[in-house]
Amino acid sequence: MTITSRAQQHADREMSRSEDRTKLCVSCGREMAWRKSWARNWDAVRYCSDACRRHGVSGADRELEGLILSMLASRPRAATLCPSEVACQMSADWRPLMEPVRRAARRLVAEGRVEICQGGRVVDPSRARGPIRIRLVT
Ligand SMILES: [Zn+2]
Repeated sequence: MTITSRAQQHADREMSRSEDRTKLCVSCGREMAWRKSWARNWDAVRYCSDACRRHGVSGADRELEGLILSMLASRPRAATLCPSEVACQMSADWRPLMEPVRRAARRLVAEGRVEICQGGRVVDPSRARGPIRIRLVT
């Protein structure tokens, strides 16, 4: 057995043990794993990072959530939406909005309202890399 695989096994064990001790960041919607430094106030932890705490969820962020839902509502039930469509709908200068749209989508996943897919499969929004599509929970 290599050191790497042992380390991996250990990591897997740790992961399964603390499985129930994860929660989703209120701002970016990514999963955060329990940390020792949070032991005392785990219940009060809402943000994964200082950046997310500073950012919080703005009115513009809520607007993006609403836009995602309304665009999906106007499509057939199983249809998917690309984050860029939402960003373009919001502004001609859409590129800076891509990450805010993805964050909004992850918050909606946390609320159980949408799913994030890649290649037609539902993926874990905290770990998805590359292009994603959004659809209503079926
Ligand atoms: Zn976060």
